[in-house]
Amino acid sequence: MPCKLAAGNWKMNGLDADLDEVRALIAAHPSPDCGVLICPPATLLAPMANIARGSAILLGGQDCHSDANGAHTGDISAAMLADAGARHVILGHSERRADHAESSDLVAAKARAAHAAGLTAIICVGETEAERDAGTTLDVVLTQLRASLPGGATAANTVIAYEPVWAIGTGRTPTLEQIAEVHDALRANLPDPEMSLLYGGSVKPGNAAEIFALGNVDGALVGGASLKAVDFGGIIAAL
Ligand code: 13P
Repeated sequence: MPCKLAAGNWKMNGLDADLDEVRALIAAHPSPDCGVLICPPATLLAPMANIARGSAILLGGQDCHSDANGAHTGDISAAMLADAGARHVILGHSERRADHAESSDLVAAKARAAHAAGLTAIICVGETEAERDAGTTLDVVLTQLRASLPGGATAANTVIAYEPVWAIGTGRTPTLEQIAEVHDALRANLPDPEMSLLYGGSVKPGNAAEIFALGNVDGALVGGASLKAVDFGGIIAAL
Protein backbone atom coordinates (compact mmCIF):
# COMPACT_ATOMS: atom_id res chain seq x y z
CA MET A 1 0.00 0.00 0.00
CA PRO A 2 1.16 3.56 -0.65
CA CYS A 3 1.97 5.98 2.13
CA LYS A 4 -1.04 7.05 4.18
CA LEU A 5 -2.71 10.40 3.45
CA ALA A 6 -4.18 12.99 5.82
CA ALA A 7 -6.50 15.10 3.65
CA GLY A 8 -8.19 18.22 4.99
CA ASN A 9 -11.44 19.45 3.49
CA TRP A 10 -11.95 23.04 4.55
CA LYS A 11 -15.44 23.11 2.95
CA MET A 12 -16.85 26.68 2.84
CA ASN A 13 -14.47 27.92 5.51
CA GLY A 14 -11.36 30.06 5.26
CA LEU A 15 -10.40 33.67 4.62
CA ASP A 16 -7.02 35.20 3.95
CA ALA A 17 -6.27 35.39 7.69
CA ASP A 18 -6.73 31.64 8.02
CA LEU A 19 -3.67 31.05 5.83
CA ASP A 20 -1.75 31.52 9.09
CA GLU A 21 -2.97 28.04 10.04
CA VAL A 22 -1.13 26.60 7.04
CA ARG A 23 2.02 28.55 7.94
CA ALA A 24 1.76 27.14 11.48
CA LEU A 25 1.18 23.60 10.18
CA ILE A 26 4.26 23.75 7.96
CA ALA A 27 6.34 25.11 10.83
CA ALA A 28 5.14 22.37 13.19
CA HIS A 29 5.39 19.49 10.66
CA PRO A 30 8.14 20.40 8.19
CA SER A 31 8.64 16.79 7.07
CA PRO A 32 5.57 14.65 7.83
CA ASP A 33 6.01 10.88 7.65
CA CYS A 34 3.38 10.59 4.96
CA GLY A 35 1.05 12.55 2.70
CA VAL A 36 -0.65 15.77 3.75
CA LEU A 37 -3.27 17.42 1.55
CA ILE A 38 -5.39 20.51 2.13
CA CYS A 39 -8.45 21.27 0.01
CA PRO A 40 -9.29 24.92 0.73
CA PRO A 41 -12.10 26.90 -0.88
CA ALA A 42 -11.10 27.77 -4.45
CA THR A 43 -10.53 31.41 -3.47
CA LEU A 44 -7.60 30.36 -1.27
CA LEU A 45 -5.94 27.86 -3.60
CA ALA A 46 -3.49 30.24 -5.27
CA PRO A 47 -2.40 32.08 -2.10
CA MET A 48 -2.14 28.78 -0.23
CA ALA A 49 -0.01 27.39 -3.07
CA ASN A 50 2.40 30.28 -2.57
CA ILE A 51 2.72 29.41 1.12
CA ALA A 52 2.96 25.64 0.56
CA ARG A 53 5.55 25.87 -2.23
CA GLY A 54 8.61 23.89 -1.21
CA SER A 55 6.77 22.22 1.68
CA ALA A 56 5.38 18.69 1.85
CA ILE A 57 1.79 19.92 1.72
CA LEU A 58 -0.26 19.10 -1.37
CA LEU A 59 -3.33 21.11 -2.35
CA GLY A 60 -6.66 20.15 -3.82
CA GLY A 61 -10.00 21.52 -4.92
CA GLN A 62 -13.40 20.57 -3.49
CA ASP A 63 -15.28 20.14 -6.78
CA CYS A 64 -14.87 20.77 -10.49
CA HIS A 65 -17.11 20.96 -13.53
CA SER A 66 -17.36 17.99 -15.89
CA ASP A 67 -16.59 20.19 -18.91
CA ALA A 68 -13.10 21.46 -19.69
CA ASN A 69 -14.27 25.06 -20.18
CA GLY A 70 -17.22 27.08 -21.44
CA ALA A 71 -20.40 28.87 -20.46
CA HIS A 72 -20.90 27.68 -16.86
CA THR A 73 -21.16 30.79 -14.71
CA GLY A 74 -19.72 30.29 -11.26
CA ASP A 75 -18.17 26.92 -11.98
CA ILE A 76 -14.50 25.95 -11.92
CA SER A 77 -12.78 23.54 -14.30
CA ALA A 78 -10.27 20.90 -13.34
CA ALA A 79 -7.62 22.69 -15.40
CA MET A 80 -8.25 25.89 -13.42
CA LEU A 81 -7.70 23.99 -10.17
CA ALA A 82 -4.48 22.52 -11.53
CA ASP A 83 -3.40 25.94 -12.73
CA ALA A 84 -3.95 27.36 -9.23
CA GLY A 85 -1.75 24.68 -7.66
CA ALA A 86 -4.09 21.73 -7.01
CA ARG A 87 -2.99 18.14 -7.50
CA HIS A 88 -6.24 16.57 -6.23
CA VAL A 89 -9.95 17.32 -6.31
CA ILE A 90 -12.68 16.00 -4.00
CA LEU A 91 -15.68 14.79 -6.02
CA GLY A 92 -19.11 13.54 -5.00
CA HIS A 93 -18.90 14.68 -1.39
CA SER A 94 -22.24 13.95 0.30
CA GLU A 95 -22.77 17.69 0.79
CA ARG A 96 -22.59 18.19 -2.97
CA ARG A 97 -24.70 15.10 -3.64
CA ALA A 98 -27.32 16.58 -1.26
CA ASP A 99 -27.02 20.34 -1.86
CA HIS A 100 -26.56 20.15 -5.64
CA ALA A 101 -28.35 16.88 -6.43
CA GLU A 102 -25.14 15.42 -7.87
CA SER A 103 -25.64 11.90 -9.20
CA SER A 104 -22.95 9.25 -9.33
CA ASP A 105 -23.02 9.54 -13.14
CA LEU A 106 -22.14 13.22 -12.85
CA VAL A 107 -19.41 12.40 -10.33
CA ALA A 108 -17.91 9.95 -12.85
CA ALA A 109 -18.01 12.64 -15.56
CA LYS A 110 -16.27 15.08 -13.22
CA ALA A 111 -13.65 12.45 -12.41
CA ARG A 112 -12.99 12.00 -16.13
CA ALA A 113 -12.48 15.77 -16.41
CA ALA A 114 -10.18 15.73 -13.39
CA HIS A 115 -8.08 12.92 -14.87
CA ALA A 116 -7.87 14.75 -18.21
CA ALA A 117 -6.42 17.74 -16.35
CA GLY A 118 -3.91 15.56 -14.53
CA LEU A 119 -5.65 15.73 -11.15
CA THR A 120 -6.17 12.86 -8.73
CA ALA A 121 -9.90 12.45 -8.06
CA ILE A 122 -10.95 11.77 -4.46
CA ILE A 123 -14.36 10.16 -4.98
CA CYS A 124 -16.63 10.11 -1.91
CA VAL A 125 -19.21 7.48 -1.05
CA GLY A 126 -21.26 6.90 2.09
CA GLU A 127 -24.60 5.87 3.48
CA THR A 128 -27.17 7.96 5.35
CA GLU A 129 -28.25 6.99 8.84
CA ALA A 130 -31.56 5.67 7.48
CA GLU A 131 -29.68 3.48 5.00
CA ARG A 132 -27.46 2.09 7.76
CA ASP A 133 -30.49 1.44 9.98
CA ALA A 134 -32.13 -0.37 7.06
CA GLY A 135 -29.08 -2.62 6.71
CA THR A 136 -28.28 -1.41 3.20
CA THR A 137 -24.89 0.22 3.88
CA LEU A 138 -22.78 -2.09 1.72
CA ASP A 139 -25.32 -2.02 -1.14
CA VAL A 140 -25.38 1.77 -1.06
CA VAL A 141 -21.65 2.38 -0.97
CA LEU A 142 -20.82 -0.29 -3.56
CA THR A 143 -23.52 1.02 -5.90
CA GLN A 144 -22.13 4.55 -5.49
CA LEU A 145 -18.60 3.26 -6.02
CA ARG A 146 -19.36 1.43 -9.27
CA ALA A 147 -21.38 4.32 -10.72
CA SER A 148 -18.97 7.08 -9.64
CA LEU A 149 -15.75 5.53 -10.95
CA PRO A 150 -14.91 6.49 -14.52
CA GLY A 151 -13.21 4.09 -16.89
CA GLY A 152 -9.45 4.33 -16.58
CA ALA A 153 -9.50 4.92 -12.82
CA THR A 154 -6.32 3.55 -11.24
CA ALA A 155 -4.41 3.95 -8.01
CA ALA A 156 -2.35 6.62 -9.77
CA ASN A 157 -5.29 8.92 -10.48
CA THR A 158 -8.08 8.01 -8.03
CA VAL A 159 -8.61 7.79 -4.26
CA ILE A 160 -11.85 6.62 -2.64
CA ALA A 161 -13.17 8.23 0.55
CA TYR A 162 -15.76 6.41 2.67
CA GLU A 163 -17.73 9.06 4.54
CA PRO A 164 -20.88 7.89 6.34
CA VAL A 165 -23.23 10.88 6.04
CA TRP A 166 -24.35 10.54 9.67
CA ALA A 167 -20.74 10.77 10.92
CA ILE A 168 -19.93 14.05 9.15
CA GLY A 169 -19.69 16.97 11.54
CA THR A 170 -21.61 15.12 14.23
CA GLY A 171 -18.84 13.87 16.51
CA ARG A 172 -20.22 10.36 15.98
CA THR A 173 -18.05 7.76 14.28
CA PRO A 174 -18.81 4.20 13.26
CA THR A 175 -17.20 1.50 15.36
CA LEU A 176 -13.82 0.31 14.12
CA GLU A 177 -15.55 -2.93 13.06
CA GLN A 178 -18.07 -0.97 10.99
CA ILE A 179 -15.31 1.05 9.28
CA ALA A 180 -13.34 -2.13 8.60
CA GLU A 181 -16.40 -3.90 7.17
CA VAL A 182 -17.05 -1.14 4.63
CA HIS A 183 -13.38 -0.65 3.73
CA ASP A 184 -12.91 -4.40 3.24
CA ALA A 185 -15.92 -4.46 0.92
CA LEU A 186 -14.67 -1.43 -0.99
CA ARG A 187 -11.19 -2.97 -1.36
CA ALA A 188 -12.71 -6.15 -2.78
CA ASN A 189 -14.60 -4.13 -5.39
CA LEU A 190 -11.95 -1.69 -6.58
CA PRO A 191 -10.89 -1.81 -10.22
CA ASP A 192 -7.31 -1.43 -8.96
CA PRO A 193 -6.62 -3.03 -5.57
CA GLU A 194 -3.80 -0.57 -4.89
CA MET A 195 -6.20 2.40 -4.81
CA SER A 196 -6.10 4.31 -1.52
CA LEU A 197 -9.17 4.22 0.74
CA LEU A 198 -9.70 7.16 3.10
CA TYR A 199 -12.14 7.23 6.00
CA GLY A 200 -13.96 10.50 6.71
CA GLY A 201 -16.45 11.58 9.36
CA SER A 202 -15.56 13.13 12.74
CA VAL A 203 -11.88 12.17 12.57
CA LYS A 204 -10.03 13.94 15.38
CA PRO A 205 -6.53 13.75 16.89
CA GLY A 206 -7.97 11.44 19.56
CA ASN A 207 -9.34 8.77 17.21
CA ALA A 208 -7.05 9.07 14.17
CA ALA A 209 -4.44 6.52 15.26
CA GLU A 210 -6.91 3.69 15.85
CA ILE A 211 -8.62 4.38 12.52
CA PHE A 212 -5.28 4.53 10.66
CA ALA A 213 -4.33 1.19 12.23
CA LEU A 214 -7.13 -0.61 10.36
CA GLY A 215 -5.77 -2.75 7.53
CA ASN A 216 -7.74 -1.28 4.66
CA VAL A 217 -7.66 2.35 5.81
CA ASP A 218 -5.04 4.35 3.92
CA GLY A 219 -5.76 7.72 5.48
CA ALA A 220 -8.47 10.18 6.42
CA LEU A 221 -10.56 12.91 4.87
CA VAL A 222 -10.96 15.44 7.65
CA GLY A 223 -13.42 18.32 7.85
CA GLY A 224 -13.66 20.37 11.05
CA ALA A 225 -10.40 19.12 12.54
CA SER A 226 -8.43 20.21 9.46
CA LEU A 227 -9.10 23.91 9.98
CA LYS A 228 -6.71 24.51 12.87
CA ALA A 229 -3.02 23.61 12.71
CA VAL A 230 -3.08 22.22 16.23
CA ASP A 231 -5.90 19.76 15.42
CA PHE A 232 -4.76 18.76 11.93
CA GLY A 233 -1.22 18.46 13.25
CA GLY A 234 -2.45 15.92 15.79
CA ILE A 235 -3.92 13.85 12.97
CA ILE A 236 -0.75 14.17 10.88
CA ALA A 237 1.25 12.97 13.88
CA ALA A 238 -0.87 9.81 13.93
CA LEU A 239 -0.05 8.92 10.30
P1 13P B 1 -15.89 16.25 9.69
O1 13P B 1 -14.46 15.78 9.89
O2 13P B 1 -16.10 17.68 10.10
O3 13P B 1 -16.86 15.29 10.29
O4 13P B 1 -16.15 16.24 8.10
C1 13P B 1 -15.82 15.14 7.36
C2 13P B 1 -15.93 15.48 5.94
O5 13P B 1 -17.01 15.68 5.42
C3 13P B 1 -14.68 15.57 5.15
O6 13P B 1 -14.93 15.64 3.79
